[in-house]
Amino acid sequence: MAKYLDLKKTYNKNALKEASRYIKEGKLVLFPTETVYGIGADGLNAEAVKKIFIAKGRASDNPLILHVSNYQMIEQIASDITPLEKKLITNFFPGPLTIVLKRKNHVPNVVTANLDTVGVRMPENKIAHDLIALANTPIAAPSANISGRPSGTNISDIFDELNDKVDYIIDGGETKVGLESTVIKVIDNEIHILRPGKITYDDLKKYGKVVIPKHILKEVDKNDQVLSPGMKYKHYAPNTKCLLVYSSNHNKLIAKMQELETANTLVITNEKNIKNFKNAISYGSTLDEISHNIFKILRSIDKKNYELVIIEGVKAEGLGLAIMNRLIRACSHNYLEI
Ligand code: AMP
Ligand code: MG
Repeated sequence: MAKYLDLKKTYNKNALKEASRYIKEGKLVLFPTETVYGIGADGLNAEAVKKIFIAKGRASDNPLILHVSNYQMIEQIASDITPLEKKLITNFFPGPLTIVLKRKNHVPNVVTANLDTVGVRMPENKIAHDLIALANTPIAAPSANISGRPSGTNISDIFDELNDKVDYIIDGGETKVGLESTVIKVIDNEIHILRPGKITYDDLKKYGKVVIPKHILKEVDKNDQVLSPGMKYKHYAPNTKCLLVYSSNHNKLIAKMQELETANTLVITNEKNIKNFKNAISYGSTLDEISHNIFKILRSIDKKNYELVIIEGVKAEGLGLAIMNRLIRACSHNYLEI
């Protein structure tokens, strides 16, 4: 049973002193960031980090992101930062971007899954920032969910799943972005997007050539060598069968979804399209709204007894690329493009 701290309505930094002590003592603290909730531990304490893998049931070859609160902390864990990496750090930190950098040797192997790199992010969320600053150590924090489940974007969705697996829960309300950070790696002075997120291709291309690897919207074989190990694993999928449908022709898309609909299906669609279906709910109207809402909706699906859930896809551009990356996995690659 974890200690619970409610910061939904009022917040002051002093309230985080106890949680930061828990981090220093090698315990697990569930905390909000602007992307999704994270399960945090002292990123330089290997024993503490091991507890995260056990709590989540996470594969040991899937490295963790270290979260920092200032630039000195980046230098504490990363080395040989190139001018392009520096520019990206200056322009996007703090915010929903993770940069994979060359690691320093003292970063525990359990954090980096034995890679010679480390993922680094500086969260913008005040609670996350202050927790890291008070703990005065980089905090390793993967998304707050049992591996394979949708990431947690509010405490009520993940309380039952994680309450007995962590030592401390900080409730900061709903997370703003709702999807995990964009993960990038600079290779030969080109910016490779390992995982799409709120920071988009267009945001990044102002700083150099941007590469989107094929695996972003495709199935990755377990034996494939991928730049981002996390992409190999089943993720976000409800137990109920889900089908993702997309067409750039709106009328064709609606007609196809109507054809697939039965008496026992749920359609997840845009606010204004609901009226076209027998049983539909809205995931919002804009890409920002969809990003904010989608994990909560995916988590709610199994509470009902549908034979099929049909999810309307979006154009895989801008933030839409991140939404489609998560939805394709949520539907276990059950994807129809017409
Ligand atoms: P999560 O913390 O659950 O949001 O997942 C973190 C993501 O970042 C996973 O997809 C990891 O594979 C990826 N990641 C973290 N560190 C590295 C690294 N050093 N190299 C490549 N990918 C990384
Ligand atoms: Mg995750």
